[in-house]
Order: sequence, then structure tokens, then C-alpha cells
Amino acid sequence: MIEIHQFPCLNDNYGFLLHDKTSGETAAIDTPDGDRYLSEADAKGWKITSIWNTHWHPDHTGGNLKVIEATDCNVIGPADEASKIPGIDCKLRAGDAISFGHIQVKVIGVPGHTIGHLAYYLPSENVAFVGDALFALGCGRIFEGDPAMMWHSLLKLRNLPFDTTIYCAHEYTQANAEFAITLDPDNQALIDYCEEIENKRSRGEWTVPTTIKKEMGANPFLRCDNAVLQTLVGTSGDAVATFAEIRARKDNF
Ligand code: ZN
Ligand code: FE
Repeated sequence: MIEIHQFPCLNDNYGFLLHDKTSGETAAIDTPDGDRYLSEADAKGWKITSIWNTHWHPDHTGGNLKVIEATDCNVIGPADEASKIPGIDCKLRAGDAISFGHIQVKVIGVPGHTIGHLAYYLPSENVAFVGDALFALGCGRIFEGDPAMMWHSLLKLRNLPFDTTIYCAHEYTQANAEFAITLDPDNQALIDYCEEIENKRSRGEWTVPTTIKKEMGANPFLRCDNAVLQTLVGTSGDAVATFAEIRARKDNF
């Protein structure tokens, strides 16, 4: 049994700490803000034993050195981005597995936002930490990969069990919803989801985490092989072209 502690960091990032009561281990998922991670762990009475980086961007690794200095934890992250990840000592590749206490963690390669981007999936807990690969109603910008690569990464996440809880790294949902509804205005699942988001944000509540099931029905970036959406976008029969078109429109939205 693990406990997941989520807290806002920087402008719109979320921080996550995972604690395994049995082993006493505590993992930090990325480190947007080292001081904040240390104080959150302290308040919980936990000591950070490892950092799991999803990708090299500074809003995900910027606190690594501060946390290492205070806790002497080890740092795991993508082998393909190792030169840009401060303090990394365990370099992972897609398909690797690590253990957290007695819990197995599967490492899923989700390149596109960056070339080595990893997601951490805990099958026994039904949770995945996806960094900037997938967002509620959105996905990461393609900085280092191409649309085909990113689409295939998202398919790997979509193939996780429906009830998998997805922890994304940013609260971007409201802006994503405003864009998604322009593409797919008659999708009832999306209409309902947008209303829920509107309500939650007006009360200052978080929209993260989400689930695969929820995203599959409404997130346009996970629906690029849907014939109705393809027709709406004007790219019938081609999932990659649909993805490329949607991503390009969102970049200019
Ligand atoms: Zn990023
Ligand atoms: Fe980010």
C-alpha cells in the first residue's frame, strides 16, 4: 500500500511524493521545486529516498541537486537524457522495471515531448506518472520528436487498463478543454468533462489526476484514430496526420 501526496509547485506544475509504509521508502516524481519537495516530505514525516525523473526539462529536474544534498537520495531517469539530468545515477530505458519497496514499477517509453521521456507505471496500484506526455484533455508539445512518435507514445498510455489513474505534471486542463471543444463540439463525453472542469476550477480544485477511461472518451489527442474526429479535422483514415493537425492547431490556439 502506497500513499501518494500531491501538491502544487511553481506556476502550474504538480509535485508528487510516493511513500511505501512497509519499506519506508519515499520517491519524488520529478523535482519542480527542491525546497518545496523537502518541506512537503518533512511535513509528512517522510525522507526522500529516490527521485524519478520523467524528462530533463528544468521544471522537472531543477530541484534534483537540492534534494540530493539534503537527503542523499538516488536519482533515476531516462538514459537518453542523462547528460541533462542533474545527479542522475540510474539510467533507465523503455521496458525496464524497477522496484519500490515490494512494488514493481514499469518504465514506459513515451518519447515526443522530449526524446527520452519516460512514464512510471505501478500496475499493483493502478497508477501512472506521465510527466508532460499526456495531460487531462491534452498532451505535451512536441519539442524533440515528431507526430508519429508522439502518437505511438500516447497509444501506449491509452492501452493501460481503463481504470488506471493518470498523474500529469501540469494543471493545463481548462485551456486544453477550451481548445478540445472547438474540434469536437458534439462529443457528449467532452461536453460533460468540460462542465466538470469549469466547476472544479471555479472552486479552485485540481483536475489532476485523471483516468485513462475519462481521457479516451474526450481527449482529442487520444482519439486520432476515431473516424468522426478524423472527418471533423479533415484527415480521414490517417491517425498520424490527424494527430499532427490537432497538435499544430493547439500550438497556435
Ligand atoms: Zn516538459
Ligand atoms: Fe513540464
